[in-house]
Amino acid sequence: MFQYHPERIIIDKAVAAEPLTEQICGRFPDVPKQLVDNFAWHQDETGTDPLRNPLTQGKKTLHLKYFKGTSIKACPGFSNDLVCCNYFTLDLIENCPFECSYCILQAFLNKPVITVHANLEEILEQVRQRTAAQPDTLFRIGTGEHSDSLALDHILGIKSHVIRFFAKLPNALLELKTKSSNVDHLLELPHGGKTVISWSINPKAIVEKEEHKTARLNERLEAARKVSDAGYKVAFHFDPLIHYPDWEKGYQELVEQILDAVPSDRIAWVSLGSLRYISSLKSVVDERFPNSRVFLGEFVTGEDGKMRYLKKIRQRLFRNVQQKITQLAPQIPTYLCMENSSVWKNTMPHQPQTAIDVESQIAGSLQQRFPIEV
Ligand code: SF4
Repeated sequence: MFQYHPERIIIDKAVAAEPLTEQICGRFPDVPKQLVDNFAWHQDETGTDPLRNPLTQGKKTLHLKYFKGTSIKACPGFSNDLVCCNYFTLDLIENCPFECSYCILQAFLNKPVITVHANLEEILEQVRQRTAAQPDTLFRIGTGEHSDSLALDHILGIKSHVIRFFAKLPNALLELKTKSSNVDHLLELPHGGKTVISWSINPKAIVEKEEHKTARLNERLEAARKVSDAGYKVAFHFDPLIHYPDWEKGYQELVEQILDAVPSDRIAWVSLGSLRYISSLKSVVDERFPNSRVFLGEFVTGEDGKMRYLKKIRQRLFRNVQQKITQLAPQIPTYLCMENSSVWKNTMPHQPQTAIDVESQIAGSLQQRFPIEV
């Protein structure tokens, strides 16, 4: 399996005394460290060697940063034109050591280093205050928006603090979304049923061709089985669904493989989202992954400005997976990610009108199926 080792660690002076800084530096005693007032990335730091791709090379710098803003936010997918799921994101890390050809971070982040928000206690205090302000809401909060939640966690050890913190929050569920298999360090933690570990998942052919450095499909499913045995709830994201030659069979088999690996009564939810991208991503992918086939086909601009497959193709992709889940495990709640109400109507067994409707459906299912834990 791929192993990450930084070439240097840059530390903001503002987090020099943080326990997390000490913990992370202690895990890389041999790596050079530099204390700075305010770190800025310079493109020319990658040198002139054309083989040192700036995005890949940038990931070898680990930046421990003082995060100043609001740490918990409504999911950026939220839009009046789309039916969202009322999800919150918690930014703890920016960027990811994996190399999925379609990764939006390649065009989205303004610097290629891996950034850790090291003032963790302050950030978690914001979560405590935000969730306490709405005691009747069940907050679903994910850390996988600008990174993979567990890609580095077996070496950085951040999520064990976060899992313990959420175990004591009365009205929140933490979701750790990953394409890794790094779960062994989490198995014994007192999670209190308040953490859902979820996998972004694709058929083996897509994992092999497009999701470089990630855990292979069988490794992800084995990891899902392990955390389910350890009492965590598990979730799966068929996202991005890709319209490749054998897609129909590939995704149907994937539903079967998941249900063979994990008991359906431990699966908290499944989401479906088709491939979408901002237009500036395509030239980056063409340069970095010339053998990728991910952007083959016809795309249209969606309500949120992102490129998507034609509506009829998206609907076929969604229906194919949804019907298989309905056939094999109808009790698992499913939802679409970043789709409009017309696509919901044509593909899903229920037609929520708003994000609150989607959230109520998921929360209702959780309360019914996991009454002690939620
Ligand atoms: S795992 Fe997610 S964040 Fe990491 S490279 Fe792949 S798509 Fe990007």
